[in-house]
Amino acid sequence: MLDTLRRIVQEVNNAPDIRAALDLMAKRVRDAMGTEVCSIYLRDEDDQRYVLMASEGLKQEAVGNVSLGLSEGLIGQVGMREEPVNLEDAFSHPRFHYLAETGEDPFHAFLGVPVMHHGKVLGVMVVQQRDVRRFDQSEEAFLVTISAQLSAVIAHAHASGVLFDQLDTGGVDLPSFYDGLPGCPGAAIGYGVLLFPEADLASVPDRQVDDVGSEIARLDDALVRTRQEVRDLAERASKSLGAEEQALFDVYLRMLDRHALPAEVITQIREGQWAQGALRDVVDQHVRNFEMMDDPYLRERAADVRDLGRRVLAQLQRQGRRHVIFPDECILLGEDISAPMLMEVPRERIRGIVTTRGSRNSHMAIVARAMGIPTVVGAQNLPLKQMDDKEIIVDGFRGRVVANASPELKAQFEEIIREEATLQAGLEKLRHEPAETEDGFRIRLQVNTGLMTDINRSLERGAEGVGLYRTEIPFMVRDRFPSEEEQRVIYREQLSAFAPHPVTMRTLDVGGDKSLSYFPIEEENPFLGWRGLRVTLDHPEIFMVQVRAMLKASEGLDNLRIMLPMVTSVIEAEDAQHFIHRAWLEVRDEGLDIPMPEVGVMIEVPASVYQARALAQRVDFLSIGTNDLTQYLLAVDRNNRQVASLYNSYHPAVLHAILHVIEQAKEEGKTVSVCGEMAGEPASALLLMAMGVDALSMNASNLLKVKAAIRRVKISFVRKLLSEALAMDNGEVISAYVDLQLDKAGLGDLLRNRKAIN
Ligand code: PEP
Ligand code: MG
Repeated sequence: MLDTLRRIVQEVNNAPDIRAALDLMAKRVRDAMGTEVCSIYLRDEDDQRYVLMASEGLKQEAVGNVSLGLSEGLIGQVGMREEPVNLEDAFSHPRFHYLAETGEDPFHAFLGVPVMHHGKVLGVMVVQQRDVRRFDQSEEAFLVTISAQLSAVIAHAHASGVLFDQLDTGGVDLPSFYDGLPGCPGAAIGYGVLLFPEADLASVPDRQVDDVGSEIARLDDALVRTRQEVRDLAERASKSLGAEEQALFDVYLRMLDRHALPAEVITQIREGQWAQGALRDVVDQHVRNFEMMDDPYLRERAADVRDLGRRVLAQLQRQGRRHVIFPDECILLGEDISAPMLMEVPRERIRGIVTTRGSRNSHMAIVARAMGIPTVVGAQNLPLKQMDDKEIIVDGFRGRVVANASPELKAQFEEIIREEATLQAGLEKLRHEPAETEDGFRIRLQVNTGLMTDINRSLERGAEGVGLYRTEIPFMVRDRFPSEEEQRVIYREQLSAFAPHPVTMRTLDVGGDKSLSYFPIEEENPFLGWRGLRVTLDHPEIFMVQVRAMLKASEGLDNLRIMLPMVTSVIEAEDAQHFIHRAWLEVRDEGLDIPMPEVGVMIEVPASVYQARALAQRVDFLSIGTNDLTQYLLAVDRNNRQVASLYNSYHPAVLHAILHVIEQAKEEGKTVSVCGEMAGEPASALLLMAMGVDALSMNASNLLKVKAAIRRVKISFVRKLLSEALAMDNGEVISAYVDLQLDKAGLGDLLRNRKAIN
């Protein structure tokens, strides 16, 4: 059963287009279940009907032409009940609706299951049989399982809008919408450039070449190098492996023979495909063949072919990388785009970024926000390969990507881009104004930094210091740990640029979703694993070097504050303080006259919320990291697209936790700030101000919007709004209510990042 399921899913996933996938689904399910009919009805949102989209067993003329209302017939019944309907004789059911065009007269037994995706009914899958009989439990379970597995394919077709368009328009390109999550607010129009990680076959786009000869030469070169690589591997492996494993290398070498796999690649290159695309196609085809084999041993061979394909690809890309030409208006596309990949592209050419994985707080998104680039993350249904070189609209407000936009839609987005530019220009004059409410309440607005580019952008916007300097970013863009002197130089730049304002430097916060290529951390559950301070306390040599570099960098400036990430207990804070003190003594012993900096902790896990008072008694300041705090309080992975809609910083648990921390810090006479994303959204920033934080630290791009919001309200108004919000028990309602009240108070233009564009 599992094998059959797996085979069907694989075959369907490999189908060339959605229509072929649906047909294949119907055929394979009918065969696997030994029934006479399998049909797929999909919900057409525009017409509010279920349309018969594929059938094996009913008349083919009916496909695409027969439909039922959402509450009509047994199909409607399955959709409304959102559960299987299993009948021994459909004809005798009162809801039965006879569809003469389908030729379903002879079929009595009926089993329909809903196709569900993210809690929504996308369609209904039905099997029918002549006999009057009830489908048994295992048949019902099979259909439910296969429908759940195939729902992603259908969801993709729905999201891309290709399904019903093909029926209505005879192939004319209609706008396609792909939903993801807002990574950085803003809208952009440009041309897709697919960035693919080295050696990822699946991300190689189609490209045509004219010079076939040099493309084949390129492949030959890559093959020579791959063969050498395999021989080296074999040589190395010979010391530790048995004869059987050694044989694997011979198999590899035989597959790399010019008359074997490469011959097929060359045939494709001759047809005009570039070497990488040809390699991808040939490897895919072989992998698919192997995967469909019933023999588990042969199925495993698929992995070898894939591995070999990647090795050749890696060699090909070593030659090709330098040749990437970025157009003037790039929309960078990729499954996952890492921060270093982003750095390789000239900033002035990047209009927008779209990834199919990741989430709002993934590292790339943070970097994109620092650079103010409209970004959509987690647009999982976007067909990346087809988007290369296509005109694309990025709607970073709503988290949506649009392809094939109509002239009207494009004009609408051009207008939005103009309006945003005007709003920003209007905000520029606030640069030197204080962040002060109409009734004179002041708060300090700081920036989160990490890259050098953040410095200028922050100063231009009148930042009053740095509330969070993410030191891991300079670590991430290197291929080894930076030395003490290298770190000192980088830190000095930050400290001197903002002096005399304070610069809060966070000690290395790796682990979770932030990894260093040269210090890999492999864990089942990285967000609950070896992260932040846990790593550096286990590696004092890394911690001490970093702290010494910070201290030395602050010489003569006296504006350094050191902040500790991921603190869960007072012991950790005390251990870290001990190391910092030791580093300070060492630096003084070297003859530098540097005062002991303030040391604070981040409050980003529930344990530290309840230890806030104890922590505040030991350190100089607290800073609330609402990104992680929300993740850990709500048990919602901040990078998981599947649960992204549950990630809500307006959840009452989050708001009350923040308030508790602020109250405890105040009672202990210590300052408290917020440096998570909440601080950078005008609406939540106002609530945090009303709670009494001393400073808000955010991305430079948001600073003027937050300042404008503060300057347009009275503290009494915001305090009232906060007390109303705190009395509510539903995060969705709180955020909608706060938005509504702020909109009424005339702040609507500043809230666009949550406004939908349809
Ligand atoms: C946070 O968790 O809120 C925070 C500011 O840290 P980071 O996003 O870098 O984890
Ligand atoms: Mg954090």
